[in-house]
Amino acid sequence: MTHIIDGKAIAGALKEELAAHVATMESKPALAVILVGEDPASKVYVNNKIKACEKVGITSIERRLPADTTDEAVEAVINELNEDDNIDGILLQLPLPDHLESDRLVQLINAEKDVDGLNLLNAGALVAGVEGMVPCTPQGSLILIKSFINNLSGLNAVVIGRSLLFGKPMAQLLLQENCTVTMAHSRTQNIEEVCRGADILVAAVGREKMVKASWIKKGACVIDVGINRMENGKLCGDVDYEEAIGVAGAVTPVPGGVGPMTIACLLANTIKAHKN
Ligand code: NAP
Repeated sequence: MTHIIDGKAIAGALKEELAAHVATMESKPALAVILVGEDPASKVYVNNKIKACEKVGITSIERRLPADTTDEAVEAVINELNEDDNIDGILLQLPLPDHLESDRLVQLINAEKDVDGLNLLNAGALVAGVEGMVPCTPQGSLILIKSFINNLSGLNAVVIGRSLLFGKPMAQLLLQENCTVTMAHSRTQNIEEVCRGADILVAAVGREKMVKASWIKKGACVIDVGINRMENGKLCGDVDYEEAIGVAGAVTPVPGGVGPMTIACLLANTIKAHKN
């Protein structure tokens, strides 16, 4: 029988732990979220993050900039927040409007305040296996994998997708757990066969229901990171969930799987930044 990994419940438990921890802290951690423009999805994500902060006792501030803002204006806000000792974590909500230099702006956030783990110093720290900020979604995905498998050592893990935000850090985390890691991407040959060798299969592509039953090894742990909107308006992942049931040993649903863990790990990173 396939176990459904309940990301919402696991994230809820983690948030309760974090709230209990924050309650014991003398000064409260603070997160600043920068939102540029009016993208409705980004607004929802930012609201959810701010609400989650409130629930665990983290102070949050929101800095909004208009869609036609300039690189200089965003840079000025980042610099101001970098220098503000009352702010522990800074999150620049992505994607930014096309005219802005997204990659450069992200790198301006101080590594110590980079709760998204996108600063190259943090990316390098993860590769080197030293302490740093780990991107929230891979961090949360690893917690979900460990909720199903105690010891990952020696297992074959396949990560589909190689972005800096998810695929690369996910592969590093699995490597640290002594998995044998394969990274698959748009140029991978015989991807179905590659995936079928995985004890742990993580899909982060952005293609509706791409991973079919025939891609999944019997009993594998399948983590679905993708968020896709179907024609009927509903959300689905990169894994064909109905097909995975019965083949996979465990699978995460979309929604209610990886998504809630991303927010919980953002809170954990903000607390970590405060302690640092
Ligand atoms: P991304 O930067 O667009 O990367 C997508 C990756 O998928 C690329 O490495 C690409 O390969 C690969 N790919 C594209 N088509 C493929 C194919 N046909 N076969 C195999 N690989 C293919 O996306 P991302 O930021 O990593 O996000 C991936 C998905 O995760 C999106 O749906 C996103 O919404 C979701 N996501 C969810 C959360 C969450 O909190 N739940 C957080 C982050 C992202 P190449 O490098 O060769 O182009």
